[in-house]
Amino acid sequence: MPQDTPDLATFIEGVRKRNPGQDEFVQAVEDVAQDILPFVADHPEYHEAEILRRIAEPDRIVSFRVCWEDDDGNVRVERGWRVQNNNAVGPYKGGLRFSRSVTESVLKFLAFEQTFKNSLTGLPMGGAKGGSNFNPKGKSDREVMRFCQSFMAELYRHIGPDTDVPAGDIGVGPREIGYLFGQYKKLTGRWEGVLTGKASEYGGSKLRTEATGYGVVYFLREMLKAEDEGLEGKSAVVSGSGNVALHAAEKLIAEGAKVLTLSDSDGFIHDKNGIDEEKLDWVKSLKLKKRGRISDYADKFDAEFHQGEAPWQVDCDIALPCATQNELDEKGAKALLDNDVLAVVEGANMPSTAKASQAFRRAGILFGPAKAANAGGVAVSGLEMSQNSERVSWEHEKLDRMLTELMQDIHGKCVEEGVGEDGHVDYVRGANIAGFRKVADAMLAFGVV
Ligand code: NDP
Repeated sequence: MPQDTPDLATFIEGVRKRNPGQDEFVQAVEDVAQDILPFVADHPEYHEAEILRRIAEPDRIVSFRVCWEDDDGNVRVERGWRVQNNNAVGPYKGGLRFSRSVTESVLKFLAFEQTFKNSLTGLPMGGAKGGSNFNPKGKSDREVMRFCQSFMAELYRHIGPDTDVPAGDIGVGPREIGYLFGQYKKLTGRWEGVLTGKASEYGGSKLRTEATGYGVVYFLREMLKAEDEGLEGKSAVVSGSGNVALHAAEKLIAEGAKVLTLSDSDGFIHDKNGIDEEKLDWVKSLKLKKRGRISDYADKFDAEFHQGEAPWQVDCDIALPCATQNELDEKGAKALLDNDVLAVVEGANMPSTAKASQAFRRAGILFGPAKAANAGGVAVSGLEMSQNSERVSWEHEKLDRMLTELMQDIHGKCVEEGVGEDGHVDYVRGANIAGFRKVADAMLAFGVV
């Protein structure tokens, strides 16, 4: 006889015991389990097949040594990983992160989240994530190239267009994808869609660069529309100044919102006059091309720079955390709520701590969780895979239309599963249940494997 559904504390205790010291992973599982356990209590078929417990155990984790030589001839040793979490609905898919802060726990949390996110897109993609503790900051192009080549010398055995298709993430942009793809091609002798986020010259999709940030704003627009609100004239606080943050800011500005802040790992800038298109172009060149520091913005445009701080104390209507995990804590959440924030939408993966997330849900504000709101990037990656298979290249406008519809569709799924009897939509619950249901049904069809 299968046992009753466990309560959240018992379930999480088991996860913690099986994954000692992996706090980020346990946090991500708990965020999902708090909604899924009550849901499966009413759906015994999922409970009896132990679906959630199975999704919370990655299919496999590959861990490997990456040796490379720096410009001074020193041999350097890093660790690489690929976490293949679940391929029930399609080949594994998820980015690669190169950052000093990468651990197995961080990649496991990201691969777990990715499974639900990819399911929400409706495209046939399973969940994975990978990367290395290699820190690309301050490294020469040649050093980054040698590292990428060595990393791919092992990774290529575990990936392929029908098995696992990595992409970029923090620290892995077009430069790194180019080196990784070049090495894959050299090792296998095959040109195939094994990586997404490629440059347009060799099979990349138009709009992929902008897709995550634009998608966040499209999702936010849908949330506001459902409340008869719009973006025109709203003040917005954005954190980060990487791919996601800058394209989210670009779309906010285009929609008539006033963007007040951007940040990096040194601190945040506050421009009371608002960051306009021209200033944003300057930041793009600073951060994406010259790999400079956001503090330079303050000198250039006479704005404030707050060293070592996050921007959540700044009064705003909308907050988009777009830098990294756990960057918005309980104190930040309280400051935003005290300032009557209207909507918080997550551009980064798990940027809100568990307590911040609970505070937003309790307060009943519009709170868009990452697995729904930032799914636009991987969705366009899915479209890049389709274009590569068909050997075609779609135009920007067509892809933007498809991205808009995808984000509307994800919003619709969140509303359907997350709406309460009082009409209030809990987007976190909606995203968790909608993402879970599709993966769970596929797993049920496969039996116990
Ligand atoms: P980038 O590497 O382009 O940018 C990351 C930004 O975050 C940089 O501004 C970086 O500052 C800042 N940052 C990193 N660590 C910290 C920290 N500890 N405190 C404050 N700021 C920090 O990455 P992306 O924009 O691609 O990714 C950002 C987030 O979005 C990540 O959580 C990623 O997983 C998620 N995401 C990205 C997608 C994509 O398509 N790129 C898709 C879906 C999710 P600095 O310059 O100092 O390093």
